[in-house]
Amino acid sequence: SVPLSFFGGIGGASRLGILVKGSNYLEALGSTETVVFDKTGTLTDGTFSVTELIGAPGVSETELIDIAAAAETFSTHPIAQSVRAYRGAAVAAERVRDVREISGQGVEAVVDGREVLVGNGKLMAAHDIAFTATDVPGTVLYVAADGTYLGAIVIADTVKLDAARAIVDLRAAGVKKTVMLTGDRTPVARAVAAELGIDEVHAELLPQDKVAEVEALLAQTERDTNGKGKLAFVGDGINDAPVLTRADIGIAMGAMGSDAAIEAADIVLMNDDPDDIARAIHLARRTMGIVW
Ligand code: ADP
Ligand code: MG
Repeated sequence: SVPLSFFGGIGGASRLGILVKGSNYLEALGSTETVVFDKTGTLTDGTFSVTELIGAPGVSETELIDIAAAAETFSTHPIAQSVRAYRGAAVAAERVRDVREISGQGVEAVVDGREVLVGNGKLMAAHDIAFTATDVPGTVLYVAADGTYLGAIVIADTVKLDAARAIVDLRAAGVKKTVMLTGDRTPVARAVAAELGIDEVHAELLPQDKVAEVEALLAQTERDTNGKGKLAFVGDGINDAPVLTRADIGIAMGAMGSDAAIEAADIVLMNDDPDDIARAIHLARRTMGIVW
């Protein structure tokens, strides 16, 4: 048989696809009290697909998806990839210029000489676009050109296979509170949190709002006499880098995650499996000789 110590520590963790950047982080993980998750790409698989096109009067579905896909030509966001995939053939790059990506909101670009906006209600509100709010479940992108509303694109993301189990296993591992932070809309966020059994949810957050929420949660989290960290944040995106740095333990998704998130993190999950957090906690305790 294989001795237990073989699986212990940083080496053992790396054999499970859990990369730990220092033994102090593994130790801190052993006493984690609160685990805060980003939603998209962390608890959901981040592969969105278009489920509905709702053109404003006089706007065809073809025109709607063409303009949106054009504006999203250069974005690496999973939402942008789904919009381009639904259109099919790539948009001729010369139709698109002056692209500006506004994190947590969407994109602005000049397409065929028109000022195009593709993003959430916040982006529309920021430009005083009168849009028709859509109540369908899912993430909704609104599209406008030269100040006129063109319609909505509904896209759906799916919860990762192991996400519900991850929450159950974290609780079994002694984690007292689970929290989800997201830039997505409240109804979508609530549905995902309810499905997974997450204790607390904060939605419609800009990247800086996520930092503020984590600061507030850090203030509520008990620490030991050494001031050792007890709050872990798990994220995948470029936007998550500041929060990963701020948390006691920053955990990034390594396979689909952005380079910025991987760099900012203390621990990287190479298999993008949220259930690996509970595995790492058990491993950390075993390594420290704590019987649990
Ligand atoms: P999360 O916090 O769930 O990881 P993000 O912060 O990446 O999500 O995005 C939050 C919201 O901002 C999205 O749900 C979407 O409405 C909007 N958004 C972000 N990037 C884009 C984009 N490239 N195109 C359209 N909408 C976007
Ligand atoms: Mg994300």
